[in-house]
Amino acid sequence: MHGVSQAIRQFNEAKIPTFVVTNQGGVGLGYMKKEALEKIHLEMRNQLKSEETYIDDIAYCPHKPQAGCLCRKPGVQMLIDLAKKHDINLKESIMVGDREPDIQAGRKAGCKTVFIGQEHSFEADAYFSTLQEAAPWIIANLKEMS
Ligand SMILES: [Zn+2]
Repeated sequence: MHGVSQAIRQFNEAKIPTFVVTNQGGVGLGYMKKEALEKIHLEMRNQLKSEETYIDDIAYCPHKPQAGCLCRKPGVQMLIDLAKKHDINLKESIMVGDREPDIQAGRKAGCKTVFIGQEHSFEADAYFSTLQEAAPWIIANLKEMS
């Protein structure tokens, strides 16, 4: 978390709107109540706040993995809705993820993509081990794109 909040603080300082987009199929499957998930998100925001940083918004898909909804990544509806709500151009945005559906959703939405992890088996625009390592690349590329 420490490295993550440091990276997010750099985005805040660069005035880059930052969002969390998350699949939460456990809600649809009944493993977790919506209220419990929202509490987790609130705790995450409070944790970031205590580290003097913030994210602009959180979108989540609560549907069952097999429900065929449009929002669950690799679907793009969460990205489209966030872009609309916050007046963001997806073609000038970067999708960062640690799973293949994150990268697929980003590509479909017209974003540049950054994969965080050890795997290089699919097509992202850049690969880093941690978000903190990715932050300078993300900031430089967003400046170039806008
Ligand atoms: Zn969904």
